[in-house]
Amino acid sequence: MGTSLLLFRLRGIEVRVHWSFLLALAYGAFIYRNSAAGPLVGALYGILVILLLFACVTLHEFGHALTAQYFKVKVSHITLLPIGGVAQLERMPDKPMQEFLITLAGPLVNFAIALLLLPLMLLLMTMQFGSFPTDISVLLNEMQRPGLTNLVTYLVATNILLGVFNLIPAFPMDGGRILRALLAMAMPYVRATQIAVLVGRIMAGLLAVWGLLTGNIIMMLIAFFVYVGGSAERESVESKAVLRYFTAAQALTRGAVNLYSSERLSRAVELIMNSYQSDFPVLDLTSKFVGVLTRPRLIRALQESGPETRIVDVMVPVESVPVVAPTTNLAEVWEQMSSVGSRVVAVKNQQEFLGLITLEDINEVFQVMGASIAKTGKPTPLDNMPTTPPTPEPTGHTAADA
Ligand SMILES: [Zn+2]
Repeated sequence: MGTSLLLFRLRGIEVRVHWSFLLALAYGAFIYRNSAAGPLVGALYGILVILLLFACVTLHEFGHALTAQYFKVKVSHITLLPIGGVAQLERMPDKPMQEFLITLAGPLVNFAIALLLLPLMLLLMTMQFGSFPTDISVLLNEMQRPGLTNLVTYLVATNILLGVFNLIPAFPMDGGRILRALLAMAMPYVRATQIAVLVGRIMAGLLAVWGLLTGNIIMMLIAFFVYVGGSAERESVESKAVLRYFTAAQALTRGAVNLYSSERLSRAVELIMNSYQSDFPVLDLTSKFVGVLTRPRLIRALQESGPETRIVDVMVPVESVPVVAPTTNLAEVWEQMSSVGSRVVAVKNQQEFLGLITLEDINEVFQVMGASIAKTGKPTPLDNMPTTPPTPEPTGHTAADA
């Protein structure tokens, strides 16, 4: 996402603004520069309009975020970009009804703002024109002139537009998510996602054509993001559907080599040369698991302090390594890794350390087993397949995960 500035924090949610937001302000100033009030007042008014517009976008995102929090989904931050806002949810809830409500809350906020401002708009208009103007061209002419009536009218119109526009079923825009959630109530989640993404692609095509015909760059950008974002999310949902068939215990690297905290990096280099292993569990002298030496850490330490560095000084300490139970399914393992940005997890049975799972391990399971599932519709049985059939619905985290 690049550089963004922290604006404020509300209920644990950071509101950040991306630097490119300045472009939106400049655009506002540019649009109103020729207003009757003069270029300076016009430009300032334009900036005010954009700031208020984005205040509404922020409220829209808080609609999503607070509803998500209500369903116990963590929200880390909201980012404001020139083309809109994004609320970063830790995950989408598994229940379609919850996704439906979280998504719907955004556009509903915009409709609520419009509804709240409507009486004020009617009052201001009646005061300015003597009666409510029925001639739309009078209104449109007036809109260019800086003033309170026009500002309120603009906000009412824009919030209605924002609400309606976001409800277009262009997954992963709100309307597309609502469509997916509704479909998922009647069919498997993967199928629902595939259909929603397909509809989203058609919508993205239409938006792009519309953008081209009207010369609207923002619209073309949105079409692009809908296409790319939809494809990425479909892939992630499909991957998780495969990974859900397998447990952490099945993905463990057997016979992995351990390092000892008192050893030096040169030992790790030696092991890497002689094996396929890229990340090493680190044990202390009593064979207790105390951390992980990941490949990126190893490489950085070699560059910075050389092969004689002690492993204990550069390893990822055990407190920073996410832990899963052997029965946790791989989709959850993967989710946990991506939510904390870790490339490894430790698998522990109560207090007993069983081994590590790396991103490569998960990727391998996905590629090999995904190919097998695509061919047969069933996963290839592994020698330690669980005896109970996999649950199609994702399960909650087990207590051992914490
Ligand atoms: Zn939204």
